[in-house]
Amino acid sequence: MINLIFPKRCPICDGIITGERLICNECINIPRRVREPRCMKCSKHLDSNEIMYCRDCEKHKKHYARGIALYEYDSVKDSINNFKNASRPEFASFYADRIVHFLGSEIKDFNADALIPIPLHISKFKKRGYNQSKLIADEISKRLGIPVLENVLQRKIKTKEQKKLDDSDRQKNLVGAFHMPQNGVKLYNVILVDDVYTTGSTIDEAARTLLDGGVEKVYFVTVAIGYEK
Ligand SMILES: [Zn+2]
Ligand SMILES: [Zn+2]
Repeated sequence: MINLIFPKRCPICDGIITGERLICNECINIPRRVREPRCMKCSKHLDSNEIMYCRDCEKHKKHYARGIALYEYDSVKDSINNFKNASRPEFASFYADRIVHFLGSEIKDFNADALIPIPLHISKFKKRGYNQSKLIADEISKRLGIPVLENVLQRKIKTKEQKKLDDSDRQKNLVGAFHMPQNGVKLYNVILVDDVYTTGSTIDEAARTLLDGGVEKVYFVTVAIGYEK
């Protein structure tokens, strides 16, 4: 429907594309998949084959069980920025299409009852008009048949912008950011969905909240992940 009014755009160069394609031919090789070897916990690229975990996962115990990300953040940074801030919600179908193509079997192995998008604070939602994580989760759901549960996790407090804070402040900034309204539904395995995993503190705080609320295991999937600093 949207295509009748707004032309479909390439998620990388933002040029107009036609037909069934989700990305233009010139841009197809620009998004770079995270290379092996990868951290067994967060899936970040590792510098060496001799280690199993990145420094961050080695040092800080995570609440989530494991997660996977598709692209190296650098290669899709502008795309994700446009997706969120330049009204390009349709990029979600490209991201989900590639996630399912490359990571679908790993995602299925998580045996999840539900996909849970990282919620946005209401003020941010109103400003943007959509929750980017929810759009990605919906598109993954369409392709893999795992239901999206949107109201399991809610954002309670408005946090400061994470990028303006250092690592320890990021973690503190998020404590208590989410809550789980009681709804009586027992969930065993769930997958958190977000656009980017940077320090992982948002995802891990969401995971902590879900575990506290009785969920057994929390996984995550994101479009992109940063490098180890
Ligand atoms: Zn393009
Ligand atoms: Zn890691």
